[in-house]
This record gives sequence, C-alpha cells and structure tokens, in this order.
Amino acid sequence: MTDADLLLRLGVDPDTLAPAVDPRRGPDRVGLNPVPCSTCGQPARFTRIVDLDQGPRWLDRCRSCFLATVGTQPSRMPATVDGIVADLRAAMAEAGVALTIIEAP
Ligand SMILES: [Zn+2]
Repeated sequence: MTDADLLLRLGVDPDTLAPAVDPRRGPDRVGLNPVPCSTCGQPARFTRIVDLDQGPRWLDRCRSCFLATVGTQPSRMPATVDGIVADLRAAMAEAGVALTIIEAP
C-alpha cells in the first residue's frame, strides 16, 4: 500500500495536508497542543510524513484513525524470505562486502 492508497482509504484529500517543510517539527504536531486529526478533526496523537506528488505532507491522526489503519500502512520491510534475501544482497553490494547465505535443510 502506497501513501496515496493510505490517504484514499482514510478519505483524506492530499491537497488538504500541510506541507512537511521541516521534518523535525513532527513531535510538536502531537505534543501538548496537538493539531487536528487529518481525518476526523480530533486531537492528533500520531503523525508521519507522506510522500506525495504534491511533495512531503504531514498526515496527523488521532488514536482511533491511527488504529483503523495500523495494519495497512506502507511498509519498506520485505514481506517474504526472497525479499529479505534481495535486501541483504543489495546491502552487501552497497557495502562492498561478501556474505554467504546458507539455507537451512
Ligand atoms: Zn481521527
């Protein structure tokens, strides 16, 4: 699921999200004076930057809206053993090291 898919699932118009100009401001968005949830307007408790055609934007979510999508968020982690091995091979190539992967019998 891409960030655009996540917004579609939440029913959030990407053009309504605030530009994420300074990623260091994330904790301020959900601190003592939280911004409204991008979906329902309740105080946001979670925030993250979504990468969209419009550029990086803040997606602020209250607890309920976060939990409604927690299992559907875009993941950069491989979901299969083949994906894990492919990531290891790419990391080996980037680091210029040799690694032997031995499959268990
Ligand atoms: Zn919400």
